[in-house]
Amino acid sequence: MEPLIKITTRDDIIPEYRNTPVGLFLEYHNLGRKFVKHTKPELLIGMCIDSRLVLNVPHNFSYVVRSGGGNMRDMEFNISYAIAVGGIRHIIVLGHTNCAMINLIDKRKDFIKGMVDTAGWAKYLAEEHFQESQPIYEIKNEIDFVLKETRRLRLKYPRVTVVPMMYRVKNNHIFLIDE
Ligand SMILES: [Zn+2]
Repeated sequence: MEPLIKITTRDDIIPEYRNTPVGLFLEYHNLGRKFVKHTKPELLIGMCIDSRLVLNVPHNFSYVVRSGGGNMRDMEFNISYAIAVGGIRHIIVLGHTNCAMINLIDKRKDFIKGMVDTAGWAKYLAEEHFQESQPIYEIKNEIDFVLKETRRLRLKYPRVTVVPMMYRVKNNHIFLIDE
């Protein structure tokens, strides 16, 4: 049984997140809440580069940091800036189903061939590039990965609320992860 909380009404949002930017995000994306004008961004969302993920949020509501698997390890200055200068107090770590970063190691051959044929790299450089990056971006299990990133960011930014969520590609629904 997956530890996912389905959000189909406002009451499904756990009370500590209701009436916060986190709850508002779920209302916009899942519940079709009417967009209002935001004068400044309310939260930061970290998510995968996957082209199937499309957020239903209003203009100027959120900073969005995207990287393979939603891995935010190389994005720290961006996140720090959004907090320190942008005044962000909430971060959502948004994983998704069916992520290509799962079992990345299996894609080694395709990656190297693509870097040589499409990008024009020397084979040994492509091999090195994969070797260095694969351990950072590899995901074994989407939910575990999101929870791990959440814990890491909570330690790094102790006054910021960090919330793990999961995007189901099949129906574009975003779930809270039950911790
Ligand atoms: Zn992905």
